[in-house]
Amino acid sequence: MKHFFYSLPLLLLLVSCGNDNSINTKKMNLAMLATDLAILAADDMEGRAPCTASGERAVRYLQSRMEEIGLEPAFGGSYLQEVPLVKILPDPSEPVVIKDRKGVLRYTNGTEISLWSPILSPEISLTNNEIVFVGFGIDAPEHNWNDFEKIDVKGKTIMVLVNDPGFFTQDSTLFNGTTMTYYGRWTYKFEEAERQGAAGCIIVHEDMASGYPWAVPSRHSRDPEYYLQNEARSEKQCKVLGWISLSAARDLLARSGYDYDSLKETVVTLDFTPVQLQAKLNVRLRNSWETCTSHNVAGVLRGSTAPDEAVVYVAHWDHLGIGRPVDGDSIYNGASDNAAAMAWVLAIAEEFKVQPQTERSLLFFIPTAEESSLLGSYHYVENPVFPMEKTVAGFNSDVILMLGRFEDVTVTGLGHSELDQYLEKEALKQGRYISNDPNPENGMFFRSDQLPFMKKGVPFLFAKGYTHQRELGKEATLQIIADYWKNVYHKPCDEFVPEHDKLEGLLEDAQLFFSVGYRIANEQTYPQWHKTSEFYQERCVDRVL
Ligand SMILES: [Zn+2]
Repeated sequence: MKHFFYSLPLLLLLVSCGNDNSINTKKMNLAMLATDLAILAADDMEGRAPCTASGERAVRYLQSRMEEIGLEPAFGGSYLQEVPLVKILPDPSEPVVIKDRKGVLRYTNGTEISLWSPILSPEISLTNNEIVFVGFGIDAPEHNWNDFEKIDVKGKTIMVLVNDPGFFTQDSTLFNGTTMTYYGRWTYKFEEAERQGAAGCIIVHEDMASGYPWAVPSRHSRDPEYYLQNEARSEKQCKVLGWISLSAARDLLARSGYDYDSLKETVVTLDFTPVQLQAKLNVRLRNSWETCTSHNVAGVLRGSTAPDEAVVYVAHWDHLGIGRPVDGDSIYNGASDNAAAMAWVLAIAEEFKVQPQTERSLLFFIPTAEESSLLGSYHYVENPVFPMEKTVAGFNSDVILMLGRFEDVTVTGLGHSELDQYLEKEALKQGRYISNDPNPENGMFFRSDQLPFMKKGVPFLFAKGYTHQRELGKEATLQIIADYWKNVYHKPCDEFVPEHDKLEGLLEDAQLFFSVGYRIANEQTYPQWHKTSEFYQERCVDRVL
């Protein structure tokens, strides 16, 4: 199925005309952005890691800013929502042993195979557990696709491919072609394994299909990882999660008599039948853990006629803290990621405060633990201020390039909902055009705080000026982007340098999203998902006036 965005301009006509609620901004400015950014990305914030004194310092600063702006505390008199976290420290010292008809394979955990457990238990083991190769491990009714149709995997370990059939075939009629759908994301694979009652889930790593080298998933078996404390972790079926390198997967399949490349040709067809390997998995994992509490920060501007409905602005506050030094610098300041986006949220809140009151409420939400699998947002959507069905739409921002003004507005996740048209309409007024994510195969739409909201049915925009800086042009901007991901992203040099960084583009994005949000906050209708989106569900359409 093709997504509709190949015919964007046509669809513009379909958006309800109604009143044009556009409005000019009068309060937000560059100085305001620079001040918040400089404070939040300063060395004394020590990289804003959750559950640290400096992380809490960032929380207090955000709270004081919300107070100063005049936002209502979101959580029963408080701007803070407790987020109970547990950090699991895995001990990968025992080998992973696979026994098959040819003998015994013994891997050091974290070398060719990387396994860990999300269970709060000192010891988690699988003994002689059957391994089944189930293709992509996808159950997607809207794509008429179910890899589990022909097999019951309860209590077994499944081995699955990363990404989705559209990526592997480059066929635009399968799933969303080379644009990753949520079914391609590794978090989905683990969630589906749990739904299917599997005891283990191992993803086959491929560089292109996952978007990162083997070094990334291989670390999971030994790196500490945060989880939400209140998740019933011990009740999980799927006790062992992990990845296997491509070469080890090839070898394992070959020993059971299957050729990986031939299998890859059949997994993308509906004729594929899961393959029961001759191999059995034996693994014992040891976990220890420590608990702590971090905080989401949020403030509200109450709506006039529909105060129970809300439009939400999101930017996470946490970053990586103090870590391994690079060129003598150990502070991971996280200026682009994500102090700049917090400044964007605060500037938008400042603006709404001085504008005529909107009909719907506005929620300014600054979550913790985004860098740890979006935990702050996952916690919020289970404990929301406004019920998810009354959360009309949302805007998230993350990873901002401080390069000055952009001609484009790049939408990551273009084509999922009617919000694209709202955005395009306002972007045109700024003389900007909408463009698609330059690397839609990387699944960035599923890697920031919008995901937990979207899974609950709330349409979101994840968009910003990104690929076409006005003076530099497109090609030079794309080079800067490539350099950013390679040399700056999640490194100590992600810093704010006032003499060098230009915030005009961030200001323009703040104006843009203020306008889009202002319009939606004064409408009666709910922006709808497109039926082709994996997050599709009907939203409340009739608010009787
Ligand atoms: Zn981020």
